[in-house]
Amino acid sequence: MDKRFFRDTWVEVQLDYLYDNIRSIQSLTSHHKEIIAVVKANGYGHGAVKIARTALEAGAKGLAVAFVDEALYLRQAGIKDSILVLGVSRPEDVRMAVENDLTLTVFQEEWIREAAKYVTSNEKVKIHLKCDTGMGRIGVNTVETLQSLEQLTSEYACFIIEGIYTHFATADERDSLLFQQQLDRFQEMVKSLKQRPTYVHCANSAATLRMNIEECNAVRAGIAIYGLSPSASMKAILPIPLKEVFSLHTKIVHVKKLKCGQSISYGATYTTEDEEWIATLPIGYGDGWIRKLQGQEVLVNGQRTPIIGRICMDQCMIKLPYYMPPGEKVTLIGAQGDGFISIDEIAEKLETINYEVTCSISNRVPRVYMKNGEIVEVVNQLLSHI
Ligand SMILES: *Cc1c(COP(=O)(O)O)cnc(C)c1O
Repeated sequence: MDKRFFRDTWVEVQLDYLYDNIRSIQSLTSHHKEIIAVVKANGYGHGAVKIARTALEAGAKGLAVAFVDEALYLRQAGIKDSILVLGVSRPEDVRMAVENDLTLTVFQEEWIREAAKYVTSNEKVKIHLKCDTGMGRIGVNTVETLQSLEQLTSEYACFIIEGIYTHFATADERDSLLFQQQLDRFQEMVKSLKQRPTYVHCANSAATLRMNIEECNAVRAGIAIYGLSPSASMKAILPIPLKEVFSLHTKIVHVKKLKCGQSISYGATYTTEDEEWIATLPIGYGDGWIRKLQGQEVLVNGQRTPIIGRICMDQCMIKLPYYMPPGEKVTLIGAQGDGFISIDEIAEKLETINYEVTCSISNRVPRVYMKNGEIVEVVNQLLSHI
């Protein structure tokens, strides 16, 4: 293996799983619906560039990110495909959008008037209008404001309304009333437009997995492309297999035999109850492996064993079932031997959602990209400039 990092702690990203997940979603949504792969927050922590490239190879027609900087990051990497910015952009940053062919989300009339000042009449800005149908975050929330926004926009030659969309608050909950209300509201808003834009989309992963929404011709798939269920309750009703793309590994760096009654780590919260083999791992809360994971099990030699004592910034300790040498691989998330620790298990331990787990593993941890069991690339943010 090319030694592109010098501490044995790494994330493995299975690009072939990502590819398969996208193909499965595509077959589910029928082939006339376009997939917009959501790669915000550095591809949910997986690394936006590699994820974007693989998603496009697998058939995704475009990408979505949260803000302009994230889009520019993809452009800098040479990605030329369409990128929709989902969040609010500053009107003056419309220049960046024009120069880099970004598609912006718009829902305020004042934004249109302001942004127009920064664009010449022969330049074109692609926009998607955003409807707030019940999420209460961003978007126009009445038919009247949507119609007047469409009217105003049409008065400027520089804006092209390429799409219209909304976002669901409860698509991942079975039997949600709000979900149906939002869908009805969105359909009403789309119908109220004088001209139907090229792209009409509303489904996130949860909605995509649950139903085919006839009126739409694109979906915005995030969590599902990474092989994760949008919620615990949806796990039982997934219509396609999803393969977890992300796994986290380290190696034992130190092993010692302790006598009974010796304490471990800050605060001395753990005391050996017998003669015990204790190993030190080079991962800690500075890597996003946060202190609340004290007590969480890891896999070593395919067996589960607990993290003991407080997790430090860069290191933590585990109790070994028997002696193992330094250099032994430890899996914190993912498969090892017959064992498997899912991202959902970590999310449950942290009382959060799987989305937050992969996003939280910091850029300090190198991402190793794999395809069919072989390493294809290593990205180490710390050393990316050397
Ligand atoms: C993040 C996001 C998505 C993707 O949601 P998933 O649940 O990960 O599929 C889609 N649309 C918008 C507007 C988002 O912010």
